[in-house]
Amino acid sequence: MEQREVYLDNSATTQVCEEAAQAVLRAMRQEYGNAASLHKKGWEAQKLLIEAKKGLARLLACEEGEIYFTSGATESNNISILGGTAAAKRRGDRIVTTAVEHASVLACAGELERQGYEVVKILPREDGNFDPMDFYEAVDDRTVLVSAMYVNNETGLLLPVEEIGKAVKRKNPNVLFHVDAVQGFLKQPLRLKRSQIDLLSASGHKIYAPKGVGLLYLRKGVRVKPLFFGGGQQDGIRVGTEAVPLAAGFYAAAKQVAEHQKQDLAHYEKLKEHLLSRMAQIEDVSINEKGNCVPYIVNLSVKRVRSEVMLHFLEQYGIYVSSGSACSKGAKSHVLSAFGYADDRIDTALRLSFSPQTTKEDLDYFADKLKEGAQTLMKLK
Ligand code: PMP
Repeated sequence: MEQREVYLDNSATTQVCEEAAQAVLRAMRQEYGNAASLHKKGWEAQKLLIEAKKGLARLLACEEGEIYFTSGATESNNISILGGTAAAKRRGDRIVTTAVEHASVLACAGELERQGYEVVKILPREDGNFDPMDFYEAVDDRTVLVSAMYVNNETGLLLPVEEIGKAVKRKNPNVLFHVDAVQGFLKQPLRLKRSQIDLLSASGHKIYAPKGVGLLYLRKGVRVKPLFFGGGQQDGIRVGTEAVPLAAGFYAAAKQVAEHQKQDLAHYEKLKEHLLSRMAQIEDVSINEKGNCVPYIVNLSVKRVRSEVMLHFLEQYGIYVSSGSACSKGAKSHVLSAFGYADDRIDTALRLSFSPQTTKEDLDYFADKLKEGAQTLMKLK
C-alpha cells in the first residue's frame, strides 16, 4: 500500500503551486534576458518584472514603485530594520518590537543593541493579545522604529497591526512602522495604508511560490540605507540582477492566494474546528492557544512526549508537522515562553499549519496517529 502523505507544515514552507511553477518555467525558458539589458530580450524580462510589481502593488493596494523584490523575508526584515534605523540615525537610538518576533527580526534587534541602541520588547497581555496602548507607552521621541509581526508563526496569534500603527504614529509621527507580514500576507485582509505601515516584509515560499524570493514594501518617501552596493537595480535599495523568474512565480502564487482568501479562510475555520474536536477526545493533549489566532496555524502539546519524538513518530506515517518553528531547530521556543507556558508544555509542543489542500480526512489520519503515539511513546519523567 502506498504511504499516505499529510503535509501539515505550511508555515515552514509550502509546495509551489502549479501557476507559480509554470510562470517560473516560462520566465526561465522564454523571458530569460537580463532586465537591465537594452535589447529586446532585456525588455521582455523587464516587462515581466514590471507586471509582477504592478500586480503585487494592486493586491496590496499600493504603488508599483513601492514594491521591491528581495531574496526572502529575512532580507526584507534586515533592510527594514537595519537599513531603516541607519537612515534615521540622527533621529534617535531606540527601537520597539515584540518578544514573539521571528529570529530574523530579533537578530536584527540584537545587532542594533550591540551598536548601542536601546531595544524594547513588548510582551503579550495575560489573555495572549497585544495591547496597542503598550506600544503607545513604549514609543518616545528617541524611538526611530517599531517592528511588529502580523501573524505569529508558532501560535498563529494575529496582532492588531492597524491599531498598533495608529497608536505609535499618534505618539511620534516620525517613527518608522515595520510589519513582518510573512504568515498573514494575502491570507488575511490587511489595510496597508490605514495601518500606517512604512515597511512590510513578505516571503514567496510561504504562499506557494519558490524559496529565494521575498517582497519589501517601502512606502513612498521613506528612506532606508541599502545593505548591499552594486549595479543600482531597484533604485539601489536592493541591487543585483533581478530574479525575474522568481518574481513572476511570486506574483502568480500571490494572485491565487489573494483570489481565494475568503474561501480558504472559511475552509481553515472548518478544519480547525474539526481538529480541535478530535484533539479534545485525546487525553493528554492541550491546545497552546492564547489570544486572537488565525485558523490555519494550531499549536498543541502532548503531555510528556517530547516534540521531536512525536514529530519523528508521525513522520513514519507520512505526516509532517513542526516542533515549534522550523527556523529555530530544537531551541526552546521564545514565543511559547513569552505567552507564559511552562517548560513541560514548550518541550512537547507541535505546530500544525494548513494549506488549501488540507482535508478533514488528513486531520483524522493525524489525530489517529497522534493518539497512538500519545499512548505508546516513551514518556518523559
Ligand atoms: N518572518 C516570519 C514570521 C517567518 O515565519 C519567516 C520564515 N520562517 C521569516 C520571517 C523568514 O522568511 P524567509 O524564509 O523568507 O527568509
